[in-house]
Amino acid sequence: MRQSELFTKTRREAPKDEVAKNAQLLIRAGYIHKETAGAYSYLPLGLRVLNKIVGVIREEMNVIGGQEVLLTALQNKETWQASGRWDDKDLEIWFKTSLKGGGELGLGFTHEEPLTALMKDHIRSFRDLPVGVYQFQTKFRNEPRAKSGLMRGREFLMKDLYTFCKDEKEQNEYYEKAKQAYIRIFDRLGIGGETYVTFASGGSFSKYSHEFQTLTDAGEDTIYVSEAKKIAVNKEVMNDEVLKDLGLHRSDLCEKKAVEVGNIFNLGTKFSDALNLVYKDEKGQSKPVWMGSYGIGPGRVMGTIVELKSDDKGLVWPESVAPFAIHLVALFDQSGKVKKAADDLYSKLSAKGVEVLYDDRELSAGEKFSDADLIGIPKRYVVSEKTLANDSVEVKDRVTGKIELAPTFKL
Ligand code: ATP
Ligand code: MG
Repeated sequence: MRQSELFTKTRREAPKDEVAKNAQLLIRAGYIHKETAGAYSYLPLGLRVLNKIVGVIREEMNVIGGQEVLLTALQNKETWQASGRWDDKDLEIWFKTSLKGGGELGLGFTHEEPLTALMKDHIRSFRDLPVGVYQFQTKFRNEPRAKSGLMRGREFLMKDLYTFCKDEKEQNEYYEKAKQAYIRIFDRLGIGGETYVTFASGGSFSKYSHEFQTLTDAGEDTIYVSEAKKIAVNKEVMNDEVLKDLGLHRSDLCEKKAVEVGNIFNLGTKFSDALNLVYKDEKGQSKPVWMGSYGIGPGRVMGTIVELKSDDKGLVWPESVAPFAIHLVALFDQSGKVKKAADDLYSKLSAKGVEVLYDDRELSAGEKFSDADLIGIPKRYVVSEKTLANDSVEVKDRVTGKIELAPTFKL
């Protein structure tokens, strides 16, 4: 893409009311736009990053047999009354709206109920199980605090997977596969090193659930980390019994701030009982379906990556999620030689399928470089009179800051 055609502008200052580092930087670099507290629009660069994150998650969901769907945001009251999660007395998080002709609808904050109800049309016998169904869908939550930029939205994208199994054993197996998929996802997204499988409260059907907690001072959660075992315990469940279960000693653990980028949950038969989702077993007997749910917030992941990886000059993207692989910066000369060489290189790289943002704007070198640092693409190629005198291109790594000259013919 030619940067002269990109409609978004970078800016020196973040909006005064924006306190979160992730939102400040993403707004300054033109990735997102703040609509209102807790609601952000994604601009071309931001959408490219979001789509990369979504792409990695989708691949790993497909590896474990997930089938993708897209459910509605509008939610019907009766479905949620069946599970006891409709009333504002029980759940403060709802956004609800009334219909012109009378009656109410809710904006979905999660999708256990509607998917359980939907699967009643499709799950009949043990032959239909196990099955995993997932989506990338916009959730709405009336969050009391929306101060963490992309990390806590009132409207946000969620990947939610739900598994439907014959019994506890089959559900536990699917759960383990999903846990491994999550580990691969966060590794591929470049935050595996900072992300801990964290023991958290499990609800009525299992002792623990697992959260994927990424260490950052911008996080709202407190966890106790065992570096040696690469696991952690959420403060909410931290006690002697949990330590004993996990073979940990309090003195081995380090208290840290973290953000929950994903979580996985054994639901047992809670929702299938409430909504009467049953199947016929081998003997023709009716049994409740066992369920699990597994969430990841791609926007929260994007915000977390920014919190972890950015520096005083701007964003720094891991290759797997960067909006472009290469930022080609041309420092034009009078003769037109640099423009010709940079245009050629842009065409050559694009023809090879390399994703390039080409800074072909008539701006000073200083302005172009500070924009490139702010935008944070992993590799910067500079073409100038000076580099062409050596038949080369200057290659700068955004992470290490290391600069090398690369012969043009090799690129
Ligand atoms: P938290 O404990 O942080 O409030 P949660 O436990 O309510 O999150 P879930 O309901 O399980 O989260 O949602 C699944 C995933 O969706 C979370 O792991 C997180 O990545 C993401 N998520 C949850 N709430 C938000 C939000 N307000 N904004 C952005 N992403 C969110
Ligand atoms: Mg949570």
